[in-house]
Amino acid sequence: MSRTTVATIHLGALRHNLARVRAMAGAAKVMAVVKADAYGHGLERVARALDADAEAFAVAAIADGLRLRAAGHRQRIVVLSGPDTPFDIAEMQRLRLEALIHHDVQLPWLAAADPARGPLRVWLKIDTGMHRLGFPPERARAVHAALLAMPAVDRDIGFMTHFASSEEFEGRETALQIARFKDATADLPGDRALSNSAALLGWPDARADWVRTGGLLYGLSVVEGRSGIDFGFRPAMSLATRLVAINHLVKGERVGYNGTYECPEDMPVGVAAIGYGDGYPRSAVAGTPVLVNDRLAPLVGRVSMDLITLDLRGVPDARVGDKVTLWGEGLPVEAVAASAGTISYDLTCGMTRRVLFVEDEN
Ligand SMILES: *Cc1c(COP(=O)(O)O)cnc(C)c1O
Repeated sequence: MSRTTVATIHLGALRHNLARVRAMAGAAKVMAVVKADAYGHGLERVARALDADAEAFAVAAIADGLRLRAAGHRQRIVVLSGPDTPFDIAEMQRLRLEALIHHDVQLPWLAAADPARGPLRVWLKIDTGMHRLGFPPERARAVHAALLAMPAVDRDIGFMTHFASSEEFEGRETALQIARFKDATADLPGDRALSNSAALLGWPDARADWVRTGGLLYGLSVVEGRSGIDFGFRPAMSLATRLVAINHLVKGERVGYNGTYECPEDMPVGVAAIGYGDGYPRSAVAGTPVLVNDRLAPLVGRVSMDLITLDLRGVPDARVGDKVTLWGEGLPVEAVAASAGTISYDLTCGMTRRVLFVEDEN
């Protein structure tokens, strides 16, 4: 085996996290968001782990709905950006996928759908302030009425909105979005789904009939300075590799491309077999936390395609072949993301095909 970079997916952590989401959601049903290959954890394996306890799955692409049906999942599946072309409609009916209706362009496609292919369930997306997808709140009633009149559309129509900054628990915007949504949908029949992960943590007013959680299922948080562990969730991915070299450098020597790191004293520098070619972020700065044998060995120098370099002064007994942990148990991916100028989701989504994925029951 030449390459040693391994992403371990903890199936027990996924199940724990779903149970915790469910406990926090109260009476609301759980739509498990598994878009982007389940945030990089692997769609089929995550869906298998969560199947028994998720009332619905949410994906971004019809192709992911097809993969879920092919794997035998029978629950409701919502396509979060809806049909993109008129040809998507028949495919969604065939696969029993639910459509997000967010734009006028989609309405004639639905109106022309053949009811003989089976009823199409739809969710009406209302733009309450994110200004990405959705109808303006003042149009919700009219669009709802138009959908009800379409022969292929199931009469049980749901309502959704999406928050722009729900991780800002002290901010005003989410409360305004909740109020606009309640106003726009007042007295209309149908399920409501507002909360993403951060809203589940910080905005109990938004629980409604469904919560639409992604990040927390994987143990990931986007709340500034707080990791999933801080809220009782477990990391579902651990990323690890091995030390392939240790160099004893003298004070003043420089490390890596462009010599961006200069040794402040004589010191051991470890070389680990991972780089941006595996999805480790090239933007990670010197000082980004990395563990060698469970002890801190901060990143030094630039991240290369296949390798990174580590300050081993805190791990003087390290040997070539020792385990290097990039994130997971003992090192929250959120801390690495903060050092790389991004969020945890971006890192787990970014694993490349050369990373070996293994499953762990825990
Ligand atoms: C991705 C997404 C979610 C899930 O967000 P998390 O922060 O991962 O919980 C919910 N709703 C929509 C519309 C999304 O695009």
